[in-house]
Amino acid sequence: MTHQVEDDKLMVEMRGVNKWYGQFHVLKDVNLEVKKGERIVICGPSGSGKSTTIRCINRLEEHQKGDIIVDGTTLNNDLKNIETIRREVGMVFQHFNLFPHLTVLENCALAPIWVRKTPRDEAEEIAMKYLRRVKIEEQALKYPGQLSGGQQQRVAIARSLCMNPQIMLFDEPTSALDPEMIKEVLDVMVELADEGMTMICVTHEMGFAKTVADRVIFMDKGQIIEENEPHEFFNNPQSERTQAFLSQIL
Ligand code: ADP
Ligand code: MG
Repeated sequence: MTHQVEDDKLMVEMRGVNKWYGQFHVLKDVNLEVKKGERIVICGPSGSGKSTTIRCINRLEEHQKGDIIVDGTTLNNDLKNIETIRREVGMVFQHFNLFPHLTVLENCALAPIWVRKTPRDEAEEIAMKYLRRVKIEEQALKYPGQLSGGQQQRVAIARSLCMNPQIMLFDEPTSALDPEMIKEVLDVMVELADEGMTMICVTHEMGFAKTVADRVIFMDKGQIIEENEPHEFFNNPQSERTQAFLSQIL
């Protein structure tokens, strides 16, 4: 399937976003526009504000200054807006965050049932569809603890997809995995990207960035230092900080 970026449709706009944790200025004038269908990779040193940036997009963290607009809805203190945005934004975490006392199927059906009020039968059908898509349907009745890390992460992706999100946020989805399991998760992410999902991925998987990203963004100390399409980003980094970072990880 050919990948289509819709130039005239902004999925995420961050304008002059600032955030503080107490006295600590964690995000400094972050400006980011993500178009529908775009795949963005965010990289940068530990503590540079990558997680905070994407967590602000679905209001897991609150920003104090600037604007964040997701698919036309402005994130502010209006709870309705926050609910609207959470329904459109899927998020996958480093540590899967599955409910351990629920089966894989129940984990996936939970949000459709409780948030979308989908009847249970139908929610389970949707869940099975996405479990098939991440090639794990045969594990549907197991508990997360009975699965490998790579399998759990694929369940977490399926669970997000069950809500039919407009955009997916990934926060280092492969960082907690043993090396042999990284590929099975990246493969699912590549497929999603090929199908046109709008994605923002925080990852240090530079192979993924090179093949999938439309744009790579480098953050350091709460700021976006540099962004470019992957070929230029990796072959011709402009800032010294980007060069130093890339020389450590490549
Ligand atoms: P990254 O994802 O790039 O590693 P984070 O966004 O997690 O960075 O964190 C950026 C900075 O904010 C770090 O210095 C971190 O210690 C700090 N930080 C993150 N979460 C909190 C919090 N809840 N309270 C206070 N400081 C935090
Ligand atoms: Mg992080």
